[in-house]
Amino acid sequence: MAQINDNFLKLKAGYLFPEIGRRVSAFTEANPDKAASLIRCGIGDVTEPLPLAVREAMHKAVDELGNRDTFRGYGPEQGYDFLRNAVADNFYQDLPLTAADIFISDGSKCDTGNILDIFGPGNKIAVTDPVYPVYVDTNVMIGNTGEADEDGRYEGLVYLPCTAENNFVPALPAEKVDIIYLCYPNNPTGASATRDQLKAWVDYAIENDSIILYDAAYEAFIQDSEVPRSIYEIEGAEKCALEFRSFSKNGGFTGVRCGFIAIPETVTGASSTGERISIKSLWSRRTSTKFNGASYPVQRGAEAIFSEAGKAQVSALVEHYMGNAALLREACTEIGLSVFGGENAPYVWVACPEGLTSWDMFDKMLNDANVVITPGSGFGAAGEGYFRISAFNSRENVIEVCNRLKKHL
Ligand SMILES: *Cc1c(COP(=O)(O)O)cnc(C)c1O
Repeated sequence: MAQINDNFLKLKAGYLFPEIGRRVSAFTEANPDKAASLIRCGIGDVTEPLPLAVREAMHKAVDELGNRDTFRGYGPEQGYDFLRNAVADNFYQDLPLTAADIFISDGSKCDTGNILDIFGPGNKIAVTDPVYPVYVDTNVMIGNTGEADEDGRYEGLVYLPCTAENNFVPALPAEKVDIIYLCYPNNPTGASATRDQLKAWVDYAIENDSIILYDAAYEAFIQDSEVPRSIYEIEGAEKCALEFRSFSKNGGFTGVRCGFIAIPETVTGASSTGERISIKSLWSRRTSTKFNGASYPVQRGAEAIFSEAGKAQVSALVEHYMGNAALLREACTEIGLSVFGGENAPYVWVACPEGLTSWDMFDKMLNDANVVITPGSGFGAAGEGYFRISAFNSRENVIEVCNRLKKHL
């Protein structure tokens, strides 16, 4: 008899996006005439086409593979040097990292989940609340938690509430934790973290010998020059932090798939006998065994993001989405709602009108405005009372969403 991993049975069945899907299907079945006018601002997926520079680089790479002289088979598991160098030169110039610290992957969702392979059992793990659900569920799957309570909080995890009072950047935990997931600019709240706030976390991590898993998937959307773009801008982070980045949101790679983890040589963890081991060496070993590299055309496409033309095209995409975010912020403010985020991130985080829960607001928006938003409670108990509007959309749709918000709320 094949035994399954029982931890999977702890996962909550009503995961956010399937539940949204169910409610949207029920609505369109009951109102077939309204299906066509439905606007989806729910899942955080990009909508605009892949930059031309990227497409050209990918076409060229495919043609190289079609010629015996330029054909390439398996590439280096950790990524091609051309891309690791481009990342180090463009993202980490003047920071304590080199191309050898960059591990190219097929995206950050996989990376943030897979990283748990190299950490042992028994770590005290902290996540923010609300949170990107992948961090939590991958810890459940690997056995780092107990069961969920009725609010969906898993026993064994430390939840750090992110509220309007703390500007959606959590206070340091009172207890000692070993691993902390932080994501700034944040999904779902759209908040960004200041230098001082990140410094406090880095100091905490050094003092408590903990590791910060820093997800910077939305770095490209930072508009404020005071907001740090990388955790390594904070002194000491090279001793205690890993940084996850993705080409999904800046380059529109959600379907193409490419990202990376930066792991400085100086980040270490302890073996069960107390020996200090480099995290980078473990991740490198893990990568060689379990991964055969992101595809060559994809890595060439990612490299093109750093070309002159690529940078301009990415800027235009970011400007487009951030323009959407500004319109959504404006519309929500105009109708008297409390609005957060959307200034350095493509998500607008809005307090529900008095008396409505997150799911009430979801239903109201679906039924009255025919707009799909994401209920805050789906990202954690502390998300109750909020909803997220994604700015990933066409300008036309966003203008229409703003009009409907003003009409129906
Ligand atoms: C979109 C997103 C990512 C990127 O995921 P990919 O797998 O690279 O597409 C990572 N973290 C967060 C919080 C995200 O929202």
